Amino acid sequence: MIFITKIKKCDVLEEDQKCSLCNGPLDHIYHPMEKWNIKGLLCSKCYSQKIFETYPGTHERVNKS
Ligand SMILES: [Zn+2]
Repeated sequence: MIFITKIKKCDVLEEDQKCSLCNGPLDHIYHPMEKWNIKGLLCSKCYSQKIFETYPGTHERVNKS
């Protein structure tokens, strides 16, 4: 037997906790950098995507001098 109970929204969230870019659910909450000009929050996927765009290939930099 399955009882369906009404789920009360007793936790008032700041907004709907959705990713500002992909509109998906937030597995983890990431705050975007100011220079990205993004309002709201990011999921881990979009955040790492933006980080990658912001710092492309810095991990491959080699100083040969
Ligand atoms: Zn996202």
